[in-house]
Amino acid sequence: MKWSAAVGAVVAGVLVVCGAGPAHGDPLAGAPGAGDPYYPLDGNGGYDVSHYEVTIDYDPPTRTLTGSTRVDATATQGLRVFNLDYSGPPVRAVTVNGLPAGFDRHGEHELTVTPMLPLLPGLGFTVTVDYAGEAVNSEGEGWTIAPDGGAFAAGEPHSASTWYPLNDTPLDKATFTLHATVPADYDVVSNGVRTRNAVEGDKRTVSWEARQPVIGYLTTVAIDRFTFLEQTWGGVPLLSAFAPGAEGNRETEQRLPEILDFGRDLFGPYPFDAAGGIYVSADLSFSLETQTRPIYAPWTDLPTVVHEIAHQWWGDSVSVRQWSDICLNECFASYTADYLWPERKEGVDVDAEYRETIAEWRDHARFWEVPLENPGAGKEFTAVYYRGPLFLHALRKQIGDEVFFGVLREFPAAHAYGNASMPEFREFVQRKSGTDLSGFFDAWLNRTTPPPDEFLFPGDLRP
Ligand code: ZN
Repeated sequence: MKWSAAVGAVVAGVLVVCGAGPAHGDPLAGAPGAGDPYYPLDGNGGYDVSHYEVTIDYDPPTRTLTGSTRVDATATQGLRVFNLDYSGPPVRAVTVNGLPAGFDRHGEHELTVTPMLPLLPGLGFTVTVDYAGEAVNSEGEGWTIAPDGGAFAAGEPHSASTWYPLNDTPLDKATFTLHATVPADYDVVSNGVRTRNAVEGDKRTVSWEARQPVIGYLTTVAIDRFTFLEQTWGGVPLLSAFAPGAEGNRETEQRLPEILDFGRDLFGPYPFDAAGGIYVSADLSFSLETQTRPIYAPWTDLPTVVHEIAHQWWGDSVSVRQWSDICLNECFASYTADYLWPERKEGVDVDAEYRETIAEWRDHARFWEVPLENPGAGKEFTAVYYRGPLFLHALRKQIGDEVFFGVLREFPAAHAYGNASMPEFREFVQRKSGTDLSGFFDAWLNRTTPPPDEFLFPGDLRP
């Protein structure tokens, strides 16, 4: 255990009751994980965060990241000791309710905090963590150094803990404010609304506020010499940023209002008070649906933007309960970009496309080997992309357009700013449908072989 240096000696006597870390079975120790079956140590138990106030300074030439993060939370049990998730630069000091606290780092991303005074259940408390040192280049799993000197944060499920301490679970949403100071010739882009952009001397400080609650991997910061595109969409300000070399994406991003219209018409009101995009210059292999403002790889095309914007409803406003629910994000975003947009905007015969895809892959065992529901840790981002759209197209034919498109509007409204699971989605659809769907859902979501003909070609897909 480490202590905030200057005060450590003074307070050590008070804290002599504290052990090394959260002891097993200690009723006053917050659990070190939120219990996700795939990532059991992600998130923590014993408290509920309402707000993060993250203040960072980043120096691109030396990659020095200096941070001070304030976490506002409520204890959900008595807490003698609790954890945050953090894997960033060295921690200098931790306070709880303004008093110096003990801290200890262990495992991949555990920061154990021992407050001077135990926390009482039901009461609010504030933690501050000060840290400084060389940022860890996590390349697509968090803090990532950009080729031209800047940096950005992107990764799923792990990203945020590489640059600020948090309760890193989809189950604990909180509002998020960032204040970032960089050399004056750099810009800073993040989630939500920009509330400050001030140059003082050779430094620039930029503030961003995500006023609707957000989870860790959907927060981001991008530091680069951006050019900007400002648009409006109804009352929603759109701000998009292009790193050097990514300016070629400006034309695609100019279609953002049209893409937001498309999402709103399908899924109901846009859930956030800002939108845009961040086009980085790094050779990322994926884009990511960071809230209000996705991170895009330079090779982004229109379907990628449609996909990431669809995620604002499916993934961001409505988030998975567990990572086994990933189809709730990726099946819907992929169906929107791969089927609904081509069908409605470009007149593509998507039934023909569906039939061709089935004909091509039906006899390939590997195409069916990962189940869509509960695909397994490390396999979340596979079948959901190529089989997810087929599942949803078949579901649409099985229950009819009226029920299907009703569900696409009603489900995001029912779970807005919260969480949902695949079992809850199945129940939701079942309640709206006149026929028993258990065989259909089982064949498409739980099996590792092609569904029987009746579920592969339902409704007017019947040959
Ligand atoms: Zn996606």
